[in-house]
Amino acid sequence: MVLALITLVTLVFYFLKIASVSADNRRSAAVFEQSLRASIDQFEYLPALLARNEKIIAHLRSAYSESTLDDLTTNNELAFSARRSGADIVYVLRPDGRVTAASNYQDKIGSFVGHNYGFRPYFARVMATGERQFYFAKGMTTGIPGFFISSPVRVDDRIIGVVVVKLELASLLDSWESSHDRVLVSDANGVIILASDSQWLYRLLAPLPIRKLNQVYRERQFPEENHELLFQPDPFLSMLPTGGADYWKVDGKTWLVDHFPVNGTDWTLHHVVSHRQILLPTLACFFIVSLLGCFWYLLMRERQKKAVYSAKVRQTEIRRREDLQRLIDHIHIGVLVFDGEGCITSMNDYAENLLLAGASFNENGVANVVDLLRLKSLDGLDSYLVDLQRTPQYFETWTRIGESPVPVMFALARVDYDNSEHYLMTLINIVRRKRAEEQLVKLNASLASTVDERTRELKVAQQELLQKSKAAALGNMAATIVHELSQPLAAINSSVAAIEGKVKRENWSGAMESAARLKPLGSKMRDVIQLLKSFSYDDSNHIGLLDVATLIQQMLDLHHDQWQERGIQIELIDRLVAPANRVNMSAIKFDLAVSNLLKNAMEALEKTASPRIRVELSATASHIQLVVEDNGGGLDDAVMEHLFSPWFTTKEVGKGVGLGLSIVYEIVQQQHGDIHAENISHDGAETGARFTLQLPLAVP
Ligand code: ADP
Repeated sequence: MVLALITLVTLVFYFLKIASVSADNRRSAAVFEQSLRASIDQFEYLPALLARNEKIIAHLRSAYSESTLDDLTTNNELAFSARRSGADIVYVLRPDGRVTAASNYQDKIGSFVGHNYGFRPYFARVMATGERQFYFAKGMTTGIPGFFISSPVRVDDRIIGVVVVKLELASLLDSWESSHDRVLVSDANGVIILASDSQWLYRLLAPLPIRKLNQVYRERQFPEENHELLFQPDPFLSMLPTGGADYWKVDGKTWLVDHFPVNGTDWTLHHVVSHRQILLPTLACFFIVSLLGCFWYLLMRERQKKAVYSAKVRQTEIRRREDLQRLIDHIHIGVLVFDGEGCITSMNDYAENLLLAGASFNENGVANVVDLLRLKSLDGLDSYLVDLQRTPQYFETWTRIGESPVPVMFALARVDYDNSEHYLMTLINIVRRKRAEEQLVKLNASLASTVDERTRELKVAQQELLQKSKAAALGNMAATIVHELSQPLAAINSSVAAIEGKVKRENWSGAMESAARLKPLGSKMRDVIQLLKSFSYDDSNHIGLLDVATLIQQMLDLHHDQWQERGIQIELIDRLVAPANRVNMSAIKFDLAVSNLLKNAMEALEKTASPRIRVELSATASHIQLVVEDNGGGLDDAVMEHLFSPWFTTKEVGKGVGLGLSIVYEIVQQQHGDIHAENISHDGAETGARFTLQLPLAVP
């Protein structure tokens, strides 16, 4: 397509160029023709004028006399005439064709005088017809071509000679040669007689019939010229329409030739232009057009590519939108758009089914979101939006499908739709969720009642267990009391029996020892009873604010000798700061709890090489914390398990009753505090036990 266009434009340019060159040719050909005609016309009168010249007539009258060829008067007359008129050579021939006088008589080599030109048509035809003749030929004597005009010289209607004017047209040819146009003139035979390029002279435009050629040779019109054909027609270019012009191929070059007849002659003027003059601009045009064509083609292709790409993008976008639309239509979420008045402008199938099944329309037949979703008004919408911007939120309302209300949940966003501000609402049917919620509530209620029931059952079971453990504990306690008291009782009984025996026998020796043995047995029993009393002791009257650090310091001071005796190193670290240094409880119980911990630590240290006890006091925001640490080897796992159980002891009979820690535990529980035990290691090698006791701080 582009190629065809380039070819068409180039061809059009080519033919326009030919037309323009032909028009130029016509104009310059007219000028050349006029100059040729003027060059000849100005001498047309001269032969006839000289034919009436008295001197020439007189000369011809005696043309056959001896002295005729030396007639200086006539020769000078002719030379003068030639000089004055500008003719090249003027000469006179007598009826036998011999030149008797000539303007160039002085030219030693080229003088016409004495030559016979009777064979020349310009002479013979004048003699035969008596009329003026025009003729072009190459000079026999000079070899210079020229135009000959001849007129008869008459005396009483008798032709006594012929006057000939030869025009060599040198200045005309000079002007033609200097012109950049190429011009040539052919005669009736198609022989080139005038040419701006001398190489083309006397060549033929078309093959000359043999008869005509013989005539040319006979008349010696162009002596020594063999009249080759000037050109071959260009078979390809000849087919092109050129408006009368021809293509000549001369010596390998191609020329465009226009032909113009020369008025008043049988000659033709040929205006010749090199084909390159047309071809080069045409080629330039071809290249420019090709470049433009290529540029245009590339531009078009780029545009086409872009168009294809945009179409693809559009197609993809359309497909994407369709997919999205399909998705929106089939999604199980309602999507709808409404304007500031609440009028729905667009909605998907889900929303339509959900809202419009039992919808009411306003007077314009437009569904309004306020009615459909039972909103109070549109005024609240912006507050939904504000909430949405903070955190995406859903709001609950309800709509109607037929007669039944359907709970729905919606979220709202402001969007640009149809070039104006609209609201985009996403809507979810939450009927199933609501049902599930209701079921959950019911389930919760039944669960709560089950839990209550189970709790009740548990309490009963606990109660039963408590009764059982109380009974078991009572049994345990009874056994221990029996054990703890029966041993000293037996010893007391035996001592009393021994004393009774001594009394009866009045043998007092050893009575004091027996009585003395009774005392420790009594104190042992008192100890046991003392311990048991702490379980039942009502100390409500002794509750007061206790300065913990002072009390402990007093306790440590009281037992100072004991520690010293056993080589135990006691350290008290007091981090308490008033007023957070007091607890509100019974001093006896506090004393009992702390002294039990200290007693256990002390007993655990019996076999320790360098026994140490560390007591540390500190406070949290709500509690006072008391830590008792020792390096007595720590607690076994089995011990740890039953540590705070009553009657649990690892000590040998008579040493421990297993109530110490259970009493501490009981006291701590009564105070709403906490106690726990752990093992620690001292300096990475020794191990020990740490008891941490927490009691609530007294509220000032
Ligand atoms: P008891 O001292 O009469 O045995 P406790 O209730 O005071 O009764 O202690 C129970 C058991 O806990 C002890 O027998 C002992 O084995 C263990 N125990 C208590 N304190 C310590 C301690 N500081 N170091 C090692 N063992 C301890």
